[in-house]
Amino acid sequence: MKLTVIGAGTIGAGVAYNVALRDLFDEIRIVDLNEEKAQGEALDMSHAAATFSDTIIRQGSYEDADGSDVVAVTAGKPRKEGMTRADLLEVNAEIMDAIHDNEFGDDAVFVTTTNPMDPINYTHSIVSDYPRERFVGFGGWLDSARFQYVLAKQLDTAPSTTEGHVIGAHGETQVPVFSRVTVNGQSADIPDDDKPEIKEQIRQSAMDVISRKGGTQWAPTLGVAEVIDAIVRDEQRVIPCSAILDGEYGHKNVSIGVPCRLGRNGVEEIVEWDLTGSEQEAFDESAETLKEMCGEAEALL
Ligand code: NAD
Repeated sequence: MKLTVIGAGTIGAGVAYNVALRDLFDEIRIVDLNEEKAQGEALDMSHAAATFSDTIIRQGSYEDADGSDVVAVTAGKPRKEGMTRADLLEVNAEIMDAIHDNEFGDDAVFVTTTNPMDPINYTHSIVSDYPRERFVGFGGWLDSARFQYVLAKQLDTAPSTTEGHVIGAHGETQVPVFSRVTVNGQSADIPDDDKPEIKEQIRQSAMDVISRKGGTQWAPTLGVAEVIDAIVRDEQRVIPCSAILDGEYGHKNVSIGVPCRLGRNGVEEIVEWDLTGSEQEAFDESAETLKEMCGEAEALL
């Protein structure tokens, strides 16, 4: 089994490291324009992994990416303070365009973090010959973890017993699914008056980190490793990820966060949850915003 990680920056290096410790792959190749950085990261994490894992971790080039089982796409500019993810569309669509041209092999599943992740995941799918299920946009796991953290503070519960999911865009129009929040498996009623503040706290979560330490790392890289784990072990676990819709939730021609059953083929099924009227309305609004961005991204290719 082979994982190619494109980008040896904060996210790419963290993903490679988290995955290496799980001993899931025979080989991890790290590809970056900055080859020295990729070599240094590969060496450093090889030393760390040596006592836990037999995965071989090496710097690689795009030529080495053929025959990948999973490709983690993390290359691209990150946000700076005050920027939205949408502000990165133009610069990162260009980077994705360069990545598309390479051979990754017939079995590859692409797990993309590069922002704005939903339209980037969408454009990657339309310029390639792979079926739509091979494109797994990463963001929903992270937004859901942040929702869980905020909810636990609000409800005064332990975060690990508090479950909540976020669907919709990995961005300003994300949709926390309040109707499915549970604590210890029991549904939890969140007062309507509390919801706007909770939504705002989740929306602001990433910038609270970026403004202090320059970028997020621990939460997204653990989440990407969880997603890759679910794919490689064919777990059939449901995790919110961005998927290319073809009529599900009433939308097409867009990549957006939805509950995805993950397995060896990537998105094995888009699970259609019963949403409340207001949740579906918020999801529709988010989908329309993303369709516009997907169109803009497509025009840049
Ligand atoms: P970074 O600047 O630390 O690293 C980006 C790396 O990409 C750099 O090392 C750069 O050399 C490399 N790169 C650029 N063009 C390349 C190309 N054509 N081929 C190979 N490598 C190339 O940035 P980061 O903090 O690692 O963030 C990476 C991306 O992930 C950003 O777009 C960021 O916004 C996004 N992100 C997404 C999530 C999410 O949940 N989806 C979370 C955090 C960050």
